[in-house]
Amino acid sequence: MGVDSVNIEANLKQIEDNIQRAVTKSGRKREDILLLAVTKTIDVENIKVAVNLGLKDLGENKPQEINSKYFEIDGVRWHQIGHLQTNKVKYIIDKVCLIHSLDSVKLAEEIDKRAKSKGLTMEVLVEINIANEESKHGISINEVDSFIKEVSKFDNIRVVGLMCVAPFVENPEENRKYFEKMRKIYVDIKEKNYNNINMKYLSMGMTNDYEVAIEEGANIVRVGTGLFGERDYNK
Ligand SMILES: *Cc1c(COP(=O)(O)O)cnc(C)c1O
Repeated sequence: MGVDSVNIEANLKQIEDNIQRAVTKSGRKREDILLLAVTKTIDVENIKVAVNLGLKDLGENKPQEINSKYFEIDGVRWHQIGHLQTNKVKYIIDKVCLIHSLDSVKLAEEIDKRAKSKGLTMEVLVEINIANEESKHGISINEVDSFIKEVSKFDNIRVVGLMCVAPFVENPEENRKYFEKMRKIYVDIKEKNYNNINMKYLSMGMTNDYEVAIEEGANIVRVGTGLFGERDYNK
């Protein structure tokens, strides 16, 4: 049993109200924020409801899931948001518009190689392990600069921003300091004007904390549960 269209519509309205509140509070504009619908475990029927409500950017964790849904849904842009294994790059290289989770030079090499073979340049975000959590993927804060310089050498990759998955907390205010830190790193790198690096996206904030993330400068928020309800991984 999936969630019905009425719920998704009501949920989206709630999310839009929250985004509006956060942009107003921080002197930003709604159109500067991309709401990415996180569709992992959600079936095609329910995803289409969201797409028809205007959500055209969809995020998935698993390359297999992008592949199984790709030909079922038209007119959308897919984003790889979860950790990406090197051996899975080939399955998504010509299907996604943005990879949010670049976290190693080895992965960059593979993306570059696969992109080259398809004659395209892949846009990527560098994932940062902002709270230095054992359980999380991402580059550590003090390695970001050298990592970005190294990745800038690949012709078929373009770094266009940063991404993080903040800690799971009860009170989203606890993550404000991490979002603030992300923003600082983002601005620092932007000001250095590295060759082949174009800082334009800051992907941070999920269902639990996207309002705080927007207040601290996020321009892509990734929302799953808030839109589709609790995920059922056993389906
Ligand atoms: C699942 C997931 C999300 C969405 O999480 P919700 O809490 O359901 O909004 C966002 N980003 C990443 C990387 C995810 O894996």
